[in-house]
This record gives sequence, C-alpha cells and structure tokens, in this order.
Amino acid sequence: DEADWEIVDAAGGDAAADVAAALPSVAIVGRPNVGKSTLVNRFLGRREAVVEDLPGVTRDRVSYSASWSGRSFLVVDTGGWEPDARGLQQAVADQAERAMAAVDAIVLVVDATVGPTATDEAVARVLRRAKVPVLLAANKVDSERAEADAAALWSLGLGEPHPVSAAHGRGAGDLLDEVLKVLPERTGVAAPSGGPRRVALVGKPNVGKSSLLNKLAGHERSVVDNVAGTTVDPVDELIELDGQTWLFVDTAGLRRKVRTASGHEYYASLRTRSALEAAEVAILLIDASEPLTEQDLRVLGLIVETGRALVIVFNKWDLVDEERRLTLDREIDRELSRVPWASRVNISAMTGRAVGKLVPALDEALASWDKRIGTGQLNNWIKDIVAANPPPVRGGRQPRIMFATQAATRPPTFVLFTTGFLEAGYRRFLERRLREEFGFHGSPVRINVRVRD
Ligand code: GDP
Ligand code: GDP
Repeated sequence: DEADWEIVDAAGGDAAADVAAALPSVAIVGRPNVGKSTLVNRFLGRREAVVEDLPGVTRDRVSYSASWSGRSFLVVDTGGWEPDARGLQQAVADQAERAMAAVDAIVLVVDATVGPTATDEAVARVLRRAKVPVLLAANKVDSERAEADAAALWSLGLGEPHPVSAAHGRGAGDLLDEVLKVLPERTGVAAPSGGPRRVALVGKPNVGKSSLLNKLAGHERSVVDNVAGTTVDPVDELIELDGQTWLFVDTAGLRRKVRTASGHEYYASLRTRSALEAAEVAILLIDASEPLTEQDLRVLGLIVETGRALVIVFNKWDLVDEERRLTLDREIDRELSRVPWASRVNISAMTGRAVGKLVPALDEALASWDKRIGTGQLNNWIKDIVAANPPPVRGGRQPRIMFATQAATRPPTFVLFTTGFLEAGYRRFLERRLREEFGFHGSPVRINVRVRD
C-alpha cells in the first residue's frame, strides 16, 4: 500500500492560497482507505456516505465549507495526486508540505484497526514539522472496545490519537470540537473583500441546476435524473471558474435528489431563501424550453426581496427553436419586467453552450452590487435631473430634493432627503436615470426617501 498515498489538499497553487485566505481551513490527509472521504462527509453533515453510493464522488472535489457549533470552516478535500518520477516518498512529502502551507490545520487519518503502517509513519514524520496544528484521527473505532486500538497510534509522535468512527459518527463531534479549538477565528468569506464570491444557484425543480453545477465543476458528480430536487444539508462548494474561486452556497440539495414529498414546496422556498441570504449573487435558472411559471416568478420574488445581485440564466437553449424564442421574448417582456436590470444569459448545461458567459455576467453583477457613487457626483447629477424634471407637485406643494447620498452598497442603497413626498412614479424615474448614468447592471438599487418637513 506504499504505492498509492494520497494527501488531500486544496486545488493547489493559487487556489490553495485563495482557499486559505477565505475561511479557516482544515485538510484531511491520510493513505487510501483509512476513511478520509467518509470523515469529510461526516464533517459536512451528510447522513450517508456519499463515497459508497457514488464511487469517486469526493475524489475530484475542491473543498467545502462546513459549520459546527456556529462556526464555519473549510474542509479541504481535493484531488488525489499521482506519484511522479521523483518517487512516492518525495511526492508525499511535497504534498504534505503544500497542505501545511495552505491550510490552518491538518487532520491525519489513520486506520486504528490496522495500526500505524510504514506509510503512516512516513507522513507523520513530515507532519511533525508542520507549523500548523496537526490532529491525529484514529478512525474505525466503531465501539468502546475498539478504543484500545487507538492507543497504539501514540507512536506516530503526533500527540493524542482521537478515536473516531467516521462511518458511524462515534467521536466525530469531539473531533470537530478539537478542530475548532485549533482553528483561528476568521470569517473571511463574509467580508466584502478577499475570499471567494458567494453564489446561490436557484430555480424550480428540473430546470437543470445540478446539470449546470456539474458542468461548471467539470465533472459528472451527482446523480442527474428527472426527479424534482429538494435540498438536504447545508453544504457549500468551491468551484474554480476562469481562474477565480467561487463559493456555491448550499449545493447539497442539488447533489442529492429526494423525491417530492408533501410540503416540499414550502421547504424548498425556505431553503432557497437561506441560500440567497448566504450568497451575494443569485443565478436564477429558468427552463427556456417551457413557458415561464408561477414557480419561476416566486423564486424571482425571493431574490428581489433579499436584494441580491442577479443573473438570469435561460437553460436548455438547445431545445429552443425560433418559434419558442419569440414566445419566450414575449414572456420575458410580460413577466420579468420588474427586473429589467438583471443580466441575462442563454445557455445549455447539457451541451455547454455559452456557459463561458456566466462568469463575466456574475462579475458585472457583483461589481454593480458593490459599487459606490461619491456624494458630490451624486448630488451634481441629481441637481441636473431635478432642474430638468422637477418632482410633480402634490397637494399644492413642490417637493424639493435637498440632498442625496449612497448610504450602503450590497445592494446600492440611496437616501434622498426631501421636503415633501416623492411619488412612486417619480422614484422609478429617478432609478431609471440613475441606472442610465451610473450603470448598476445586474444589481438591484434601493432608493429611500426621507421627508423633512
Ligand atoms: P479514503 O480512501 O481514505 O477516502 O477512505 P473511504 O472514506 O473511501 O473509506 C474506505 C473504507 O473504509 C470504506 O469502505 C468505508 O466504508 C470504510 N470506513 C470508513 N470509515 C470507517 C469507520 O469509521 N469504521 C469502519 N468500520 N469502516 C469505515
Ligand atoms: P435540477 O432539478 O434543477 O437540478 O435539474 P437537473 O439538473 O436534474 O435537470 C433536469 C433534467 O433536465 C435532466 O433530465 C437533465 O438532463 C435535463 N437538462 C438539464 N440541462 C439541460 C439542457 O441544457 N438541455 C437539455 N436538453 N436538457 C437539460
């Protein structure tokens, strides 16, 4: 078994650095078959071992965010590596060192039922030099009786072996407590700068969410079928697109399909809302080959309520003929008029058509969402607008706009200080002109009016 060591680390190179910059991170390392994938799934809160249902499923993943006791962290779980010409031991050492440089803590998983092997000892030697904390997980301790096996692992020189059964969950909570103790407090993902941008991929069942996720991730990694999807566990996923790392929030439900149950819609909408709240930008996926439905519009309503940046993606474009395209245009005019500002992209998750247009659209939407207009610039603009188009007189009074300021970004929120009430129609006019002047394509804009009388 010396021949196929695996150290699971971040995507490598810059991606590893990005990952480390975002949330506190822990890498799970160990030789094959000790239960790394099972432990990762356990950390992510999955109820079944995805490993066993879908061979290879965790192997080619990048990393995931998990939370425990209210804290979020990344479980770094990527890629097997191949021993190269320099030989296995060297490759192991390099890989361990890269993991050590990229993450905040390492869990070395050893199979307690086997005891320390020569390979375990080799990687332990490398990890003893780590500047980050290393925890030793003695896995497959499925019962109290088996705990004695764990003691043999003291010989690895990595401190106390933590007995755990990744398969049954025994001791997993204690191990996570230990992991949290050694992880630095960091919440980079929540910060506006640095860290991957957070995307919620939403839409009614069967529009192609999981197909798109697979396409983007570049691997066929989940069961795609015609069963309507519901979401299961709060699991996020990092995906590198165009050299940028994106955090797709709450993808668990897209990965695991559950048959439609009663109350399904209600739970699906709660789930969508919480994904949106965790995200900065939403991809609203719509099946372009079918008429727009109430359900599509309800998801859109949730996005509008949460104030996220938005890219509307019309999927299954491979099924759209000229006639359907014309009908769709009419449906868009009629049904999507409340979000004229949303970016739109037509793709086929199946063929890969135009999927490359997604990232530029997401980038633009997020730039708009983050954008700030200086107060001076804003007030010059509003002075000109008001001079040319004064607010309509109400109750014999001419409202005046005294001052405007952008009070917030994410989404851009403006406050107008006025004397007298501004009608909804005039506020819409201002928003239209504001967008013409400053852009904000892909982002909602909020305009609040404070009447000072
Ligand atoms: P990896 O190659 O290190 O990722 O290992 P896997 O997670 O694929 O697990 C290898 C095998 O060990 C699988 O058959 C798992 O079901 C099994 N396994 C994992 N954890 C445990 C455990 O805690 N107890 C027992 N008895 N088996 C486990
Ligand atoms: P989800 O429920 O939104 O995750 O949707 P799925 O990804 O499971 O897709 C539902 C069905 O639509 C599956 O049968 C997919 O194969 C199919 N599908 C997804 N994307 C496309 C596409 O771009 N073109 C076509 N023709 N079918 C697609």
